[in-house]
Amino acid sequence: MSLEIKLNCPSKKRALIRKKILDWYDANGRHDLPWKGKDIYKIWISEIMLQQTQVQSAVPYYKKFIDQYPDLESLFQASLNDIMKIWSGLGFYRRAENIYKTSIRIQNEFNREFPKSYDEILTLPGIGRTTASAIMTFSGNGHYSILDGNVKRFLSRFFSLEINNSNLNSLWELSQYLLSVNRPSDFIQAYMDIGSLVCKKSNPLCNKCPVKKQCSSYPYKSGSAYKSKKTKITEKNIWSLVIINNKGEFYLEKISYDNLWRGLYSSPVFHNESDLMRWSKSHKIEEFIEYDIFTFSHKLSHITFTFNAILCNIKYHKKVSLSEDNWYNLSDIDFGIPKYQDKIFNQYKSIYDYN
Ligand code: SF4
Repeated sequence: MSLEIKLNCPSKKRALIRKKILDWYDANGRHDLPWKGKDIYKIWISEIMLQQTQVQSAVPYYKKFIDQYPDLESLFQASLNDIMKIWSGLGFYRRAENIYKTSIRIQNEFNREFPKSYDEILTLPGIGRTTASAIMTFSGNGHYSILDGNVKRFLSRFFSLEINNSNLNSLWELSQYLLSVNRPSDFIQAYMDIGSLVCKKSNPLCNKCPVKKQCSSYPYKSGSAYKSKKTKITEKNIWSLVIINNKGEFYLEKISYDNLWRGLYSSPVFHNESDLMRWSKSHKIEEFIEYDIFTFSHKLSHITFTFNAILCNIKYHKKVSLSEDNWYNLSDIDFGIPKYQDKIFNQYKSIYDYN
């Protein structure tokens, strides 16, 4: 058994813990999630969406996605732009790119069927051990346990094991050790539900916890040594050039460099004002800059951006060196844009009475 008898959890105690967790899940778990079922395609889409997004935020996006692309064959017809458009607002856009890349690989390498072996799934873009395990187990293709943020926190508190790199393998081992052999799919959902609904990041509901009598950290104190690390929030300034022409069209560029919004369309953005000015000069639009600035903040889980949007009103655009193909009327936008760009449009509309 090792790991010091799985940290004082011999098989009899394990059976009791499993039962308590599953009983709690039957009574309190989230049974109505729209991706419930054994359809491996739908499970894959939901698991990719749930990477870095909470359940309640992912649900409407998932429903929209599945309405449009209910199965692999329909997804094969989608371009990267189509997927990005549905993903607009959900954030972490690399996940949308990964869905697109996976769709291509499934067509080229897997005979148009979603692979059903753990090792093959692990080779797909954006899929790590937890996602591959969840796809396999939820679709009824094996007994693979998971170790996402919720499960890590729950197990680390339960076994009094600090979350750090050297304990990661032990946490995986413990996660697999507790997994129910008869109901693996319900069990990994129960793990996630307990982690997010009971053993919460701050103020865990220890008194409502089904395994409090077995938990080594009960009652959990927020200052305890087993607290997971707080995410450090960084702050960044972004400068955005909001370029509009005399027909009321906006100049937008596809973000091609490697950042959080790659593949979406945006007003040109810069890390500082002097880069913005250099760019304006090189595109011969300097004279149209109005120096009207509106600022707003845009928060992600780990970064707070302050956007400084500078208006550039182009009266005629024959002489300027901006591509003719990048002008868009707001009503014609049928591609993905970042949430911050939505804020830019909304602010612009409210300030300048744009219809
Ligand atoms: S008793 Fe508290 S700390 Fe222990 S597993 Fe339950 S909720 Fe988490």
